[in-house]
Amino acid sequence: MSAAEIEGAVHAELARAGCRMTNQRKAIVAEFMRLRRYVTPQELHERLARRHPRVALATVYRTLEVLEKIGAAVREPRDHGEASYLFCPLAQHHHHAVCIACGKVDDVPCGSVDRFARVLAQQLNFQLRRHRLEFYGLCRRCAPDEAHI
Ligand SMILES: [Zn+2]
Ligand SMILES: [Zn+2]
Ligand SMILES: [Zn+2]
Repeated sequence: MSAAEIEGAVHAELARAGCRMTNQRKAIVAEFMRLRRYVTPQELHERLARRHPRVALATVYRTLEVLEKIGAAVREPRDHGEASYLFCPLAQHHHHAVCIACGKVDDVPCGSVDRFARVLAQQLNFQLRRHRLEFYGLCRRCAPDEAHI
């Protein structure tokens, strides 16, 4: 699916979940999709303010909440302050590699979980049903260039 097709599908799902698809709401979705990083509703609202001064913060909150509910975003609770959200259509199971310097998120296909499942079963008699994994490190742009060390 192309980015435009994904955006169209997300609009349709939001409408089905009871969101009116105004231009302002479409602008929220477009900006959120473009950002490959976790953002709080506040941060997203600030980014939108320049070009879309009429977008209400309450609409940003509500849109992100519904995006999570329809499976188009993941939510990260923070110890202090607000939860943050990442655009992530969960059609295909995958994991995230989060850059600790710039916040960029890359999608990672799921591998080697079978091994964990075997260890859990053998050592703890634990039956794995689902899992969440997130990796933290430095992205290509932020990592020091190995060749020059
Ligand atoms: Zn994702
Ligand atoms: Zn980075
Ligand atoms: Zn996985």
